[in-house]
Amino acid sequence: MKLTMLGTGNASAFDCYNTCFLLTDENEHFLVDGGGGNGIFHQLRQENIEWIDIHNIFVTHKHMDHIFGVLWMIRMFAQAMQSNKYDDDLRIYSHREVINILRNACKAFLTPKQAKVIDDRIHLITVHDGDRFNIMHHEVQFFDIHSEKDRQFGFVFEIDENRKIACCGDEPFNERNKRYIENSDWLLHEAFCLDSQKEKFKPYEKHHSTVKDACENAEKLKAVNLILYHTEETNLKERKKLYSEEGKKYYHGNLYVPDDLEVIEM
Ligand SMILES: [Zn+2]
Repeated sequence: MKLTMLGTGNASAFDCYNTCFLLTDENEHFLVDGGGGNGIFHQLRQENIEWIDIHNIFVTHKHMDHIFGVLWMIRMFAQAMQSNKYDDDLRIYSHREVINILRNACKAFLTPKQAKVIDDRIHLITVHDGDRFNIMHHEVQFFDIHSEKDRQFGFVFEIDENRKIACCGDEPFNERNKRYIENSDWLLHEAFCLDSQKEKFKPYEKHHSTVKDACENAEKLKAVNLILYHTEETNLKERKKLYSEEGKKYYHGNLYVPDDLEVIEM
């Protein structure tokens, strides 16, 4: 099992791609969010991953930096299906609001010919809080992160009987999700900036965390490994070093601050 960090940036990223990642088991992929544009294809290409090999996509919420890349994927898949270059089906999972947006966007942006594959071969699957699905022969449970902004879901992905990956989306861990997230092998948590720079970046105004906050959550939740993402990007060269230095004061597991396109073996 491996995780490819396709993007690590926040919504206003210029130098990073927006936060999205791919979980890969053998040759099967589970894409989580698409970033904000068709740069998703460039990111995949740099990792030698064929976009056409992706069959499962999850969208956490409706913000542009997460959903627009998925619209581009839908367009490309619809085109490939129409010209018989793709034999399989594509499944896109999200909560009701996002599924409705995707459905309306398909009506608005796809040609009538392309749109024919929606519900026929591109399946828009509504997930509810606590729903479980079998995806790539792994159990995946989706949950409402109880965002104060827009409705957003996270998930728990079982690697095997004893190990799970938990993703909190792009907002801080909420106590109500403790039962899903506690004791994860891998925790994916946003960290907008260093705690020492919170006056400059004002993460709380955007409902985001500092590195310290994310690390304290991971420590409390007994996560074995912690991956931080969705960050500011003013000092990308030093980000890994600076975030790791601050984070290690509050978290004693294995801390990862990946760059775009970094691959993590799980
Ligand atoms: Zn975001």
